[in-house]
Amino acid sequence: MSKGVLIDLTKCIGCGSCAVACKMWNKLEFNNCEPYTGPDAKLHDLNWTVVSLHTVDDSRKEPVWRYVKQQCFHCQEPACVSACFSRALERNADGAVIYYPSLCVGCRYCMIACPFDIPKYEWSKRIPHVTKCQFCSQKIAAGESPACVSVCPTGALQYGDRSQLLAEGKRIIAADSKYVDYIYGEKEVGGTAWMYLSDVPFEELGFKMGMSNTALPAYTNKFVTKTPVIAAGWGAALLALSFYTKRRNRLAKERSRVRLTQKAEQNPDKTGGKREDHES
Ligand code: SF4
Ligand code: SF4
Repeated sequence: MSKGVLIDLTKCIGCGSCAVACKMWNKLEFNNCEPYTGPDAKLHDLNWTVVSLHTVDDSRKEPVWRYVKQQCFHCQEPACVSACFSRALERNADGAVIYYPSLCVGCRYCMIACPFDIPKYEWSKRIPHVTKCQFCSQKIAAGESPACVSVCPTGALQYGDRSQLLAEGKRIIAADSKYVDYIYGEKEVGGTAWMYLSDVPFEELGFKMGMSNTALPAYTNKFVTKTPVIAAGWGAALLALSFYTKRRNRLAKERSRVRLTQKAEQNPDKTGGKREDHES
């Protein structure tokens, strides 16, 4: 059954625990130049989720702070998946859109296709990959909550079956007039696994409004099938990229093996004479 997360923005206090948990679980470096909370927080290859601060007016026209946790929406029909010719992205049975770096040829077409501008690229790395939230797919496959959800101290993040979360969102809105009568993610681009409730209009919090309710892959497929010349050229280019990527990964492994061997030769005491192990 398709899983999801319902984010109640009225409950978020901006503590950033979710962003820290994400970094720790996914072993992402902390870098002061790339804030993961506050007014300048932005998704980045080191920040798979951020909590951005927005100053908005409430219903009495008083300025108030609201915090928005951002990450991949995990679309039900993901444009990134349909744009990826090398099958480096897939939507699994739990509804998580996951990325396989070893299959990626680095074309970055997924970055162009994503309607929410989510995937980022490791521009500073020697062997860069695309990065984004993986919905903690290994944790949810093991029956656990995503790392970010499990640490939220206010219950602003609820994890569960998407259909039940949708029903819960509608119940919350009907029971309390402070909420905007809209669940962001219910219908956008065919529906997303991560959905939001808010007491402030979504457009004031930086959400993209007026998006199509039709899944974007329908458009992507149409474009590809109606332009066979482009498709053929693209296929050839990707094949070349695929060979290049495989060769690049093989060379990187080889360099790393040579470095380890050299280190072992320079420091025979520290390696305890285990050089043969590296070479085997
Ligand atoms: S939000 Fe973007 S990256 Fe995430 S599943 Fe949808 S299209 Fe893919
Ligand atoms: S689901 Fe996992 S990878 Fe995605 S934002 Fe939460 S902790 Fe990060």
